[in-house]
Amino acid sequence: EYGFFNGEFITLDTAKVQLEDRGYQFGDGIYEATRVYNGKCFALERHLARCRRSLRELRIPITYMDEELTAIHYDLIQKSGIQNGVIYFQITRATAPRTHYFPDQVIPNLSMTIRESEPNRKWQEDGIACMLAEDIRWLRCDIKSLNLLGNVLAKQAAHEKGLQGAIQFRKDTDLITEGSSSNFFIVKDGLIWTHPTDNLILKGVTRSILLEEVIPQLGYTVVEKAFTPEFALSAAEAFVTSTSLEVTPVVNIDGHTIGNGTPGKITQSLLQGYRELVQKECYN
Ligand code: PMP
Repeated sequence: EYGFFNGEFITLDTAKVQLEDRGYQFGDGIYEATRVYNGKCFALERHLARCRRSLRELRIPITYMDEELTAIHYDLIQKSGIQNGVIYFQITRATAPRTHYFPDQVIPNLSMTIRESEPNRKWQEDGIACMLAEDIRWLRCDIKSLNLLGNVLAKQAAHEKGLQGAIQFRKDTDLITEGSSSNFFIVKDGLIWTHPTDNLILKGVTRSILLEEVIPQLGYTVVEKAFTPEFALSAAEAFVTSTSLEVTPVVNIDGHTIGNGTPGKITQSLLQGYRELVQKECYN
């Protein structure tokens, strides 16, 4: 049993999509993905808080309390027997006859899946190569909505070039926003730079943990300010963060070597600091 839909645990092969689920027809919903380490959900409270915010911003009624969502996460872990993996969940506005207006008095749909998965240690050790891609997404990238076509096209373009990721930039301002499913950082003159949290990026849980917990502890300084692709290419270090990638060094962008082409010292210490937090929360 690896899935859950509206109150029932299900196997994925028997799960059925409702044809008029607004998530399916309009992308009218939100999602979260949380990593499971050693049978425990890491930073689940932060994911649930972001979920509530996304729902509020989209005016989707909140019908599941955090306690309930937490319990379902742990039921999925227990029923699947998966100790290390990712739990994905999405909440869509409703199932209702297709029309753009919000339907009246409907109850949101909750579906969840659990999959076995481990962070890509090779990418963390060697670093990854990325391309620059124009950010063509809408102007509410702070909402973790189901509409991911911009991200999908950027990531696929990178994949077709044999690269591991895409770093997106807005053409009108020539400023980097974030990765296709990650936040982007550079290190320059000893300072850590990343895009501020506004409507143009998702406020990543991993990003928040680095800024609030890991970076202060290590004594580094963050500049939350957008920068150009040109500025990034001359950085000493670069990295992306996400629930699935944790902290993954970027050693090449658009064919330009970053620093000396190997993971930077500060990047490595941030990954180490992040792993220590995971250790503390999930392995004790
Ligand atoms: N930005 C985007 C566009 C993403 O899809 C993700 C991953 N969901 C992130 C950033 C990183 O967020 P988190 O650290 O919460 O996984």
